[in-house]
Amino acid sequence: MRVFNFSAGPAALPLPVLEQARDELLDWRGGGMSVMEVSHRGKPFIAVAEQAEADLRELLAIPAAYKVLFLQGGATAQFAGVPLNLCPAGTQADYIDSGHWAQRAMAEARRFVTVQVAASTAATRHTTAPAQAALQLDPGAAYVHYTPNETIGGVEFPYVPDTGGVPLVADLSSTILSRPLDVTRFGLIYAGAQKNIGPSGLAVVIVREDLLGRARPDVPAILDYRAMAESGSMLNTPPTFSWYIAGLVFRWLQNEGGLAAIGERNRRKAERLYAAIDGSGFYANPIARDCRSWMNVPFTLPRPELDKAFLAEAAAAGLTNLAGHRAVGGMRASIYNAMPEAGIEALVDFMRDFARRNG
Ligand SMILES: *Cc1c(COP(=O)(O)O)cnc(C)c1O
Repeated sequence: MRVFNFSAGPAALPLPVLEQARDELLDWRGGGMSVMEVSHRGKPFIAVAEQAEADLRELLAIPAAYKVLFLQGGATAQFAGVPLNLCPAGTQADYIDSGHWAQRAMAEARRFVTVQVAASTAATRHTTAPAQAALQLDPGAAYVHYTPNETIGGVEFPYVPDTGGVPLVADLSSTILSRPLDVTRFGLIYAGAQKNIGPSGLAVVIVREDLLGRARPDVPAILDYRAMAESGSMLNTPPTFSWYIAGLVFRWLQNEGGLAAIGERNRRKAERLYAAIDGSGFYANPIARDCRSWMNVPFTLPRPELDKAFLAEAAAAGLTNLAGHRAVGGMRASIYNAMPEAGIEALVDFMRDFARRNG
């Protein structure tokens, strides 16, 4: 039986995607083989790869001046890929510290370049997003990096920073495709796939063409954006099955009405869940209201001793993976695109009942 899976990542995939992958597993397109068992250089797979890119371009309205790359190593590989490609020796980069993932990106970047902290929300324990006016941006920086949605903290920027002429780089791993996005505001976007795109291991990079060619000479080939762009992300064997699943997810999103429709649904889902938390007098969410994440909703119970019972009873009711990140504790409901509104209703009903019995 399928459950409502609130995992932060790898996260739930849309049921129609899993069903199609299952149906095609042994005999993909009449070839008597699975898509995993064919050459990435053959016509059938090239068609899958190109269609996935075309569908992603259509969904996000990605201008022709941007390259779309399908790379390996998840988002973490791009923590290194971004400085190695965009920050020639002798330059520095601005980073906005909004919590766990921003800090992970900064720690990796520091191995290669000088990192300047343009803003930090540490003083609020990362329960806010910094205001535009609080960003101390260096006009000479090679780029400005930020994390629009902090997956663990559950804090999301309510605006896209204005960086003047400096390229803006965003780790959109946990919020890409959750609503429409103006790609032209960004120099580079990257996202690990396992939250809103497909299976883990894959990362999508969307990079403005004029930023290619700034790479340091020692950048590893599989992180070299220009080499990857020139080879259609096939410098070596790409993660073909993940790419195929990503393509099915993009098709599913189009069938659901695209990002405007998904965005409206995601807004309703988040509002419903936050309203249930705020109105309960039992559960609490610490994030400033204007920067609460639509995708990751952390919440605490009034007494930590109740956590175990909450998780066990929720799982028994078919609501799984609600434990908060080990660094934070409490609960976290990740409600990416694949989580239907019925899952939110089921969770809210369970939470109300649990609060009544334990309040
Ligand atoms: C999950 C996540 C990552 C890490 O992704 P990997 O694919 O495991 O490298 C990085 N940044 C954000 C915002 C994430 O949510």
